[in-house]
Amino acid sequence: MESEDFHVKLAACPTCGKVLDGAMSLHHKEPPAAGCLTACIYCGTALKFDAEGGLQRLSDDDLAEIALEHPAAFSLLLKAQNVIGSFLQSKRIKP
Ligand SMILES: [Zn+2]
Repeated sequence: MESEDFHVKLAACPTCGKVLDGAMSLHHKEPPAAGCLTACIYCGTALKFDAEGGLQRLSDDDLAEIALEHPAAFSLLLKAQNVIGSFLQSKRIKP
């Protein structure tokens, strides 16, 4: 899959508090805009960019709506969360 990296406005993950400064786009050539979905690279939380470039946690209702109305985007989000989860797991196992 083709991907592109972007610098984004500094924004803290609402779950783990780590500051994110970049995003990898899996299907766009433009930097993320308001409403774009992402997952925190540090904790895997599903997030979306808000109009100010900040990050909002997705509620269960948001996720259900995305799964229903944008199944391809939802599938990509789950894939990203799985990759991040595996990465975090591999770091924990290291001696
Ligand atoms: Zn996080």
